[in-house]
Amino acid sequence: MTDTTRSELRYEGKAKRVYATPNPAEYLVEYKDDATAFNAQKRGSWAGKGATNNAITAALYPKLEAAGIPTHFIEKLSSTEQRVKAVTIVPVEVIVRNVAAGSFAKKLGLEEGKTLARPVVEYCYKSDALGDPLVNTDTAVALGWASEGDLARIRELALQVRDFLTPFFEQRGIRLIDFKLEFGKLPSGQIVLADEISPDTCRFWDAETNEKMDKDRFRRDLGGVEEAYGEMLRRVEQA
Ligand code: UDP
Repeated sequence: MTDTTRSELRYEGKAKRVYATPNPAEYLVEYKDDATAFNAQKRGSWAGKGATNNAITAALYPKLEAAGIPTHFIEKLSSTEQRVKAVTIVPVEVIVRNVAAGSFAKKLGLEEGKTLARPVVEYCYKSDALGDPLVNTDTAVALGWASEGDLARIRELALQVRDFLTPFFEQRGIRLIDFKLEFGKLPSGQIVLADEISPDTCRFWDAETNEKMDKDRFRRDLGGVEEAYGEMLRRVEQA
């Protein structure tokens, strides 16, 4: 049997803890009930959030693998835990946008909800202290975060994820507005998709009502946060 006993805590983020395991090639990820927004200035927590995000991520990752996207995911272990391949995270948050929203709409003076003529891929340096600043690929290469080749592969995979997820959610009555991905490197050098895909990291709007079904409900104090996350899990689990 695989020994997935937790060893030492490797990393604690806002919404997850990552533990080493007796197998150096694997980590155990634990999803927490905590929520933060605006660079951790706004904090909250609700029972079941970790389990919902774990369930959504664990449902989506095998589908992405089946669509040809290599990922770190191995299996869901419990309601809040999953087994993943140990990777070195590339310190770049990759944002893919189908529709103008959030900071992008604001800074460019666009109406939230304007569909973009083509998807936009953006990169932010993963640094809470600096507020995840927007960077370009030259910066990422110059500062040694990733090679030119790694970044080209990351962009290609990010768009493949978009090409899979956009119709997947559309079939479930959800507009995928934008989302954030993270990528990791295996010891072999292979780039794989890592981290979660959940209402914490995506903007989901109900296709009929345009109602927000994601973390914007928490960020903007819209109420019904738990219900929206629960509804997103139900939509993901729809056949
Ligand atoms: N996002 C995220 N983590 C971050 C920043 C953004 O998961 O640290 C997600 C966010 O939920 C949204 C997308 O990335 O789905 C684009 O976010 P945006 O850049 O518009 O930032 P925001 O408006 O949330 O500040």
